[in-house]
Amino acid sequence: MEILTLIEKVKKQKTKFIVVTGGVCSSLGKGILVSAIGVLLKKSGYSVSVIKWDPYLNVDPGTMSPLVHGEVFVTDDGAETDLDLGHYERILDIRLTKESSVSSGQIYQEVLDGEREGKYLGKDIQMVPDVVNAIKRRLYNFSIKKDVDFVLVEIGGTIGDMEIGIFLEAVRQVKIDLGNQRLMLAHLSLVPYLKWAHEIKTKPTQHSIYSLRRMGLAPDALFLRTDYKTTDKIKNKLFVGCGINRDLIFDALTVKLIPEIFLDLDEQDVNFRIQKWFGIQKPKKAKLLEWKKLIKTMSSKKDIVNIALVAKYVGSNDPYISIINALMSAGNSNNVNVNIEVVEAEKLEKMTALSIKKFFAGVHGILVPGGFDSRGVEGKIVAARYARKNNLPYLGICLGMQIMIIEFARSILDLKTATSTEFNKKTRYPVIGLIEEQKSIDKKGGTMRLGVYKCSLLKDSKVGKIYGKSEIFERHRHRYEFNNFYKKQFEKKGMVFSGIYKKENLVEISEIKDHPFMIGTQFHPEYLSKFLKSHPLFKEFIKRAKEQI
Ligand code: GLN
Repeated sequence: MEILTLIEKVKKQKTKFIVVTGGVCSSLGKGILVSAIGVLLKKSGYSVSVIKWDPYLNVDPGTMSPLVHGEVFVTDDGAETDLDLGHYERILDIRLTKESSVSSGQIYQEVLDGEREGKYLGKDIQMVPDVVNAIKRRLYNFSIKKDVDFVLVEIGGTIGDMEIGIFLEAVRQVKIDLGNQRLMLAHLSLVPYLKWAHEIKTKPTQHSIYSLRRMGLAPDALFLRTDYKTTDKIKNKLFVGCGINRDLIFDALTVKLIPEIFLDLDEQDVNFRIQKWFGIQKPKKAKLLEWKKLIKTMSSKKDIVNIALVAKYVGSNDPYISIINALMSAGNSNNVNVNIEVVEAEKLEKMTALSIKKFFAGVHGILVPGGFDSRGVEGKIVAARYARKNNLPYLGICLGMQIMIIEFARSILDLKTATSTEFNKKTRYPVIGLIEEQKSIDKKGGTMRLGVYKCSLLKDSKVGKIYGKSEIFERHRHRYEFNNFYKKQFEKKGMVFSGIYKKENLVEISEIKDHPFMIGTQFHPEYLSKFLKSHPLFKEFIKRAKEQI
């Protein structure tokens, strides 16, 4: 559709936009702020959706290292997206699709593909209007499709980054297209406390705002990212120095528990003031009771359950952020603190049986997460073997299920060299292999089984009881599958394939019959766990682990 037609359509809508940018440095928690604003609005009765604009040139984060970029989050429709979409879905209890994840790479690709297809009719193609229009078109189409009260947009990166420019220009133009009061620009910026000077400093934030001004923008609201409450003096300084409405300067305080942010922002009247800014005559109050209850639960839990997350990436939680959040929510549901020990799988490979026993001595449950390539695989197998032999709760996710299968094949079926063809193409016992139709695919990126698939559950199985349903829908991100050739052999020895994608007869869940909780899923249940509603599998896993205390 023509951009002018889109503008006219959006103008007629009720939808309002709030765009959040970050100032001074990264890791301020823009995603959490966006979610927090979303919670306040949603709990006031408004409908909300979210978009992430990522300035990087990758088309999607699917091919980026999890250590650099964190987890790849997958939506129902199979888009590989930024981990922030996980925060939005978990905290806001909403479902997003590929339209919520936009990168510079996608925008440039769209424009350049258009050029090759002759869409630009011989004209020269420019950043303004062509690239910026591509961004606006996506925003307006999103707005028309979702038709919600508020669309929240997070711009990744930090103001001043070169690649952010096209998105800021889009924001500037949207304000012109729709009118200034249809889009609020909220800037989250660091105000560091200097211990040696006993002072909170506003200068870096002032510079960040100057950078925005150079792009023709001024923040409508300012959130000061701070470890300590700021004073009126500080806020006045920013009001006078940067010309930001005094009523719309807030603290974004460092807190212990994420939900405390929602309450703190509400106490600062963020919700009311945002609504007023948009000209809403009778601003509504947010009903935050369930969040208040959750904070109470979270701060009164006493017991601790130790979970070993046997992983490839150690040093940052970001590669496993959804799993960590799912475990935490399950802890809340079970009224127990979850202490997660991220264990480097490779370390286990070199250990003796005795030191492995010592190592897992205080552990109440083992989780083997998803992963790609062979690094650490043998260590993960060691962990699975320990869990099986010692009746320790084990949850295997994606690769974690494949590991459980390989371990079982080697130890119980006596197929000593069994493995996945991902790790050894010529293995004699390929208990895990590529789906037939994908055998010819050698291009990385976008070739996986991605997104939601239906899974039928065996009624009397463990998962059948845990879910309490006969059909579930879960999200996937993998290439390899259980090899049905071995199915009978496994079943004879006590493996139950309790979840099947019937259409293609693919194993989705395996569980060991004579084990209290040894379950592997080919899908990723963590993607659907919510902050306030823990996922049934994680909930049961933590329940079983708690019994080990
Ligand atoms: N590497 C495995 C596969 O592609 C598992 C993927 C995953 O754990 N996400 O099937």
